[in-house]
Amino acid sequence: MAAAGRWILAFGVLLAGLSAAPAGQQATAAADDPVKVLVGRLDLERYKATIKELTQFGDRRQGTDRNRAAVDWIEAQLKSYGCLTARLAYVQPPPAPPAPPRAGGPPSPVIASGEIRAGQGGSRYYGVTRPTGVNNNPQAQPDVTLRTLNMEQGEPGPREQVYCTKIGATTPEEMYIVGAHMDGIGWGEAANDNASGTALVMEMARILSSPEVKTAQSIRFAFWNSEETGLTGARAYVEQRAGLQGRENPVGSGQYPEPWWLAMIQHDMMLWDHGMPRADGSFSPDQRPEADVNIEFQSNAKRADEAMKLAFFFRSANEKYASDYPAAVGSHMTNTDSTPFMDLVPSISLRENERGMHTGAGWNPHWHQPTDRFVTFSDKDFRLGLNAAQTTLGAIAQLAGATLEK
Ligand SMILES: [Zn+2]
Repeated sequence: MAAAGRWILAFGVLLAGLSAAPAGQQATAAADDPVKVLVGRLDLERYKATIKELTQFGDRRQGTDRNRAAVDWIEAQLKSYGCLTARLAYVQPPPAPPAPPRAGGPPSPVIASGEIRAGQGGSRYYGVTRPTGVNNNPQAQPDVTLRTLNMEQGEPGPREQVYCTKIGATTPEEMYIVGAHMDGIGWGEAANDNASGTALVMEMARILSSPEVKTAQSIRFAFWNSEETGLTGARAYVEQRAGLQGRENPVGSGQYPEPWWLAMIQHDMMLWDHGMPRADGSFSPDQRPEADVNIEFQSNAKRADEAMKLAFFFRSANEKYASDYPAAVGSHMTNTDSTPFMDLVPSISLRENERGMHTGAGWNPHWHQPTDRFVTFSDKDFRLGLNAAQTTLGAIAQLAGATLEK
């Protein structure tokens, strides 16, 4: 069966999920809903602890010893969860020359009424914007220990990234891919970008790898490397493995090293939703009460229609299973590891903000900055990431037909 046919079979689940009432209104949605039990195993303190442990490797810039140590550490945790690990090797090319500065100077921070200013991915900016960029200045990191840890910058060359797989009980030859990039930049701790997404996927791998959890299809948890330098790890995965889908190897073994891809779900920057910058360039110090998880698909992708349905299925899973924050759907997914997948398989990303309209307009002052540290974020920030985890776990557990053996 072609990959598209497999996906259409999964559509019945999607549409049924969209029409279902919230869990609280269903007479049968009691404690024996296995999805609810699994989502209940997510824990704020545990999520925070995993983020904190990732920050011990500084900004985890690709091509450095601290990045390799982080890959080793993630792999050791995945093994301890009982998740079957593997690595993918690829080569990081030399960086492209920096783009020439834009003519005409920086745009005004305040967008005039009626002015249409385009952002990335097909988005549009509104209101107040703020300049963005990557900190490359070591002296901007005031913490000497962290500055020293982040000193190595790396050279082009061979790289590795790790993934692990839960094998499906009835349809091992099909899988959902759940990803996050584990590398960072900017001379901080890459706590939000992207220990927050990495820890979310690790926690899901832990919960779903528990021996009493069975899923019909396989689920692969991917920890992309070199996202910050051209999505190199995710692109290499697509190039090397798209052609291997669905092949039983060895023949007759029942083993599928690369199951058919059913969907790709990426997680990148999950904590900070403090709203638009103020006209003077300052920010609200608090998570805004209206904070939400932003689920995006890309309307220009070949698989956009299916990705859109998948995005709304995730929104519905949020309504059923998330504890505090809602989810919103947008159509301008961009600049993330799901991009190389989006023409081949329905692909979405989950974020704290929309990548084009919000992040691109400077809504997160810690993005790629020395201040992207664990101590920068409050429990209300971390809780937004936890709600994204509840959303994805609730959706994937339904899609993959998760059950609990008693
Ligand atoms: Zn990121």
